[in-house]
Amino acid sequence: MQNKGPSGPQGFVVQPRRLPKTEASLRVQDFGEIIVPPTPVNIETQAGRCTDCGVPFCQNACPLQNNIPDWLGLSAEDEMREAWRVASATSTMPEICGRICPQDRLCEGSCTLNQSGWEAVTIGSVEAFIGDTAFDNGWVEPIRPLHERAESVAIIGAGPAGMAAADRLREQGYQVTVYDRHDRPGGLLIYGIPGFKLEKRVVQRRIDRLIDGGVTFVTNCDVGKDVTLDQLRDKHDAVLLAMGVYQARGLSVPGAGPGDTVRALDYLIHQNRRDLGDIEQVDSEGEGWHHAKGRRVVVVGGGDTAMDCVRTAIRQGAESVVCLYRRDKENMPGSAREVSNAEEEGVVFEWLGAPKALMSKGGSVTSVRAARMALSEPVFGQRRDIAVVPGGDFDLPADLVIEALGFEPEAFADHHPDLALTDWNTVKVARSGFMTSIPGVFAAGDAVRGASLVVWAVRDGQDAAAEIDRYLKAQADTVAA
Ligand SMILES: Cc1cc2nc3c(=O)[nH]c(=O)nc-3n(C[C@H](O)[C@H](O)[C@H](O)COP(=O)(O)OP(=O)(O)OC[C@H]3O[C@@H](n4cnc5c(N)ncnc54)[C@H](O)[C@@H]3O)c2cc1C
Ligand code: SF4
Repeated sequence: MQNKGPSGPQGFVVQPRRLPKTEASLRVQDFGEIIVPPTPVNIETQAGRCTDCGVPFCQNACPLQNNIPDWLGLSAEDEMREAWRVASATSTMPEICGRICPQDRLCEGSCTLNQSGWEAVTIGSVEAFIGDTAFDNGWVEPIRPLHERAESVAIIGAGPAGMAAADRLREQGYQVTVYDRHDRPGGLLIYGIPGFKLEKRVVQRRIDRLIDGGVTFVTNCDVGKDVTLDQLRDKHDAVLLAMGVYQARGLSVPGAGPGDTVRALDYLIHQNRRDLGDIEQVDSEGEGWHHAKGRRVVVVGGGDTAMDCVRTAIRQGAESVVCLYRRDKENMPGSAREVSNAEEEGVVFEWLGAPKALMSKGGSVTSVRAARMALSEPVFGQRRDIAVVPGGDFDLPADLVIEALGFEPEAFADHHPDLALTDWNTVKVARSGFMTSIPGVFAAGDAVRGASLVVWAVRDGQDAAAEIDRYLKAQADTVAA
């Protein structure tokens, strides 16, 4: 496909990259998405900036290997239905990945325009627009398998890995039941990622499509407590473990006792419940510890979870919000786009600072004492070390301290001694696929990779589904022989 775009082959010179966001002082007043919905003309113009460079570095950098040049070219020519067909061929949730992928590190970071000094094509925004347009116009086909199959598959975890696998398996005609310990499907798409990055309605319509297509969700079911893996293995022909990683790394400094700090995910879940309208449940617990209104907030950590916490605290009406991170801006794990969004919204970043103690008065935290850190000289291929700067301690006033130090796997395997784990306690899978040490039990997403990205969870879920399909067909052939 030759991408010409509305401005001809050199459209990217005439048309600058544009991705309008709501002005910061307005957008912090609610939890709606911050990107201004583009018009079809905006999308044609932005998609038309693609130079069709011949070597699709963007596609290679996309974990789903999305056929980006083709759907950009089709969008530039207003062939939106065909663009949807191409985009949905490789991804079970283009409109979600288009919103929340860290594109600066993936497709857009590798865009030829970006590499040659022009700004990257707004690939993510075009992808989200294609998906939204498809839903709005009824082009998203319901799941209607050509043949029903008798075999059933249990999926543990209704996050993006579980949802992607459910989609593909149900399409093949399998009977799919997804078990989740939360009261809603969606995993971190619903309860982790805030509405200003991904509105809940966008996830809900994907969940609805799975339900309409015949996928059964069993919620409030904690596998390991309410039902065992062995029971599910007996009941179903195959099992997929897609339960993510939820053991929060804790702050271990003097003064940090139970109740002195708030864990990032607990904090975000409460706000997400408000957005979802679970008012009664949240109100019965009072505004209390999980609300930042009028408080001086310090968030410890530098990843995407920390960015979500600081921006949530701003929207809740915090008096001040500081992000304390031990490395510098260039070496933080969070996406550069999210850091810049947070800065625009009034978050103060205290780089090169590590928590040393929590100071309290009358049983309440009053400040975080932090040590000043310095980075070692860069060495090619190695992460820079950090060391304390003697005499550099400083205090950050705080009456709400949120810990956002990352996640590790929970002790899921305690209930299942036959399930082999890696040295990092993630589920071990066969080198060439997704089968675990238990025959017929597969694993995908964060449960295998450790804390990662939605797009990788989608990729794993889709690929695991293909492997489960091969496994079940081989089992059926063996029985028939
Ligand atoms: C705050 C936050 C913000 C993030 N922002 C982004 C972002 O902007 N972009 C991005 O790409 N990635 C982001 N991520 C990472 C991304 O959300 C994850 O990589 C992705 O959701 C992993 O998908 P998953 O399906 O493997 O697991 P999850 O989404 O974690 O889903 C696992 C599901 O399993 C369920 N479960 C767990 N244990 C059990 C059990 N024993 N029994 C039954 N059910 C169980 C859980 O309730 C959950 O619903 C973010 C993560 C967090 C925490
Ligand atoms: S899935 Fe993510 S990396 Fe791939 S094209 Fe979409 S936004 Fe880019």
